[in-house]
Amino acid sequence: MLNIALFGPPGAGKGTQSERLIAKYGLLYISTGDMLRKEIASGSDLGKEINEVTSQGHLVSDDLIMRIIRKTINSNPHAKGILFDGFPRTLSQAKLLESLIEELHTRFFGVLSLEVPRQELIERLINRGKVSGRSDDREDVILERLKEYEAKTLPVAEYFEKKGNYYPVNGTGSLDEIFERLVAQIEKHSNLQ
Ligand code: AMP
Repeated sequence: MLNIALFGPPGAGKGTQSERLIAKYGLLYISTGDMLRKEIASGSDLGKEINEVTSQGHLVSDDLIMRIIRKTINSNPHAKGILFDGFPRTLSQAKLLESLIEELHTRFFGVLSLEVPRQELIERLINRGKVSGRSDDREDVILERLKEYEAKTLPVAEYFEKKGNYYPVNGTGSLDEIFERLVAQIEKHSNLQ
């Protein structure tokens, strides 16, 4: 099984590259952000609670994230592997991911990290906001999301760097170029060949 976490700040291109990776490797896609947006769109009470947090650019609780992840895994027991997008986002989520991997008796490939300069991220997100209709793609919320990323999510990178399964990838250039770099890292560090 190939279990990967696609990592990077908001606007790094995780969603776009995820689509290509799941198609190439036949992985189950777990995007915690997409799942939260679905719950918001359903209009449920839980969705309303989630919206209050995400529309401010803050992170929702680890407990809620783990519940939605488990639900997806349980309804896809025959997956060939999982691509996590937007998870883990805190140090405690990183540890929860490791326990989940153990519990599933599988292995964790590691973290593929899309690296993009801060200014380019802000420009990409402002442009995306013009078409996405996402309430968190507004400049003030974008800056808050980047602050959350720097304070809470960057320690996750250090954590996996120390473990030796953190693989940085240049996230600038054409979509094809970026995809090729991701695939090159996977082929180099997994035993797929
Ligand atoms: P994303 O689509 O990954 O940018 O996520 C959109 C928003 O959903 C984030 O700004 C957070 O508010 C929330 N979110 C997504 N994934 C997580 C996570 N793993 N932990 C906490 N909050 C999350």
